[in-house]
Amino acid sequence: MKMFGTNGVRGIANGYLSCELALQMGRSIGVVLGPRVAVATDTRVSSPMVRDALRAGLMSVGADVLDLGMVPTPALQHYVRSRTDVTGGVMITASHNPPEYNGIKCISGDGTECSKDEEARIEDLYETDIPTVPWDRIGHVSQVSGADEEYVESIVSKVDAGSIRRAGLTVCLDCANGASVNTTPMLMRRLGVRAITLNGNPQGEFPGHPSEPTEDNLAELKRMVLDTGADLGIAHDGDADRCVFVAGDGCYVSGDIALALLGRYMLRRNGGGEVVVTVATSKVVEDSAASAGGSVAYTAVGSPIVARRMMSDGGVFGGEENGGLIFADHQYCRDGAMGAARMLECIVSDGPLAMQMASLPRYRTVKLQVACPDDRKTEVTEGIAAAHIGENVNRTDGLRIDYEDGWVLLRPSGTEPKFRIYSESRDPETAERRASEFADEFAKALGGQ
Ligand code: MG
Repeated sequence: MKMFGTNGVRGIANGYLSCELALQMGRSIGVVLGPRVAVATDTRVSSPMVRDALRAGLMSVGADVLDLGMVPTPALQHYVRSRTDVTGGVMITASHNPPEYNGIKCISGDGTECSKDEEARIEDLYETDIPTVPWDRIGHVSQVSGADEEYVESIVSKVDAGSIRRAGLTVCLDCANGASVNTTPMLMRRLGVRAITLNGNPQGEFPGHPSEPTEDNLAELKRMVLDTGADLGIAHDGDADRCVFVAGDGCYVSGDIALALLGRYMLRRNGGGEVVVTVATSKVVEDSAASAGGSVAYTAVGSPIVARRMMSDGGVFGGEENGGLIFADHQYCRDGAMGAARMLECIVSDGPLAMQMASLPRYRTVKLQVACPDDRKTEVTEGIAAAHIGENVNRTDGLRIDYEDGWVLLRPSGTEPKFRIYSESRDPETAERRASEFADEFAKALGGQ
């Protein structure tokens, strides 16, 4: 049975995501990722319940549990990666999903998100009657404190903390009442940055605003940056693996722009190299990488895929346009607080964000969604691909066609019966026209069964 989506197992707590499910998942994970598994949670009301059931499952198959408490997902990943005797990790979180949801996300012994193979092994075992161990081999549980501080110290050691401190910056920080409520304020203090916090209460009503850190949902943060004259606005999602920004002029910085600016900065710092992004990423990243003497590699959508490509090819920096930022010199996973620290360093080095954004070429990106039954996705994609033979077609993920001045992408959703259509061009009218032409072509392919 397929249980893992793009970001672990998700569902409504005490609905699909029941204690029974968490207990059996714990047994299955204990066998695959044991014998020493670190466990952490976000701030959701249901997280302790899911954690306790999962912990019992782990121990019942003889796995020892290291309970890190409430910390961001990348802090758990950092803990697992830093210790050879810790063989895996589990994060209890539903990231940006609404408060009624929760989830189980698995981490490999090297601190990266579990591969599809490991997830498939966990799913297969879940279906079976997993043998438990005799009473004297039941796993132990230890409470571990300090994983959050260790993560913050690791970030401070990687950035130019002295320059950031001397710059005397002020930031507005929206933690969405999530897992970053302790770590990112702690990081700002360690970097000598004055932080004005918003939704920074772990007992607050998670997430404090509609949960996805999109421009509409961060209206309060944008206003606060303007009202306080802060240098930067920083927002995390619920488990703080992602980080999005607001410039000092109150403008929301899209994920594509953040990838372009941080990519350029990291390439300059590194003296060239490769930035890894997904096929759904704006060409502005490629333009800015080229200006710093670097190149861009494209992967299928999914941050573990980006991270693994960086590991195999030696990519310097990578990420997704939803605020997932991966820095090879820290760890191969989305790393929200590291993204915040690097952006501060980038501002100190290259100037205010609004000014940096003005230096980038402008693209118009149109995003549409079209319904399609799951069982017809392949046939529809192949039909459209056949009509474009001889053009600059890329089949890394769905169907992408590149033009001189932009690109279009038709990508099947992994979780819902729909496709996403992207169209980007320097000329806004061309972007709109290609999006609607592509949507028409899709409708024809779907209708002509
Ligand atoms: Mg997340």
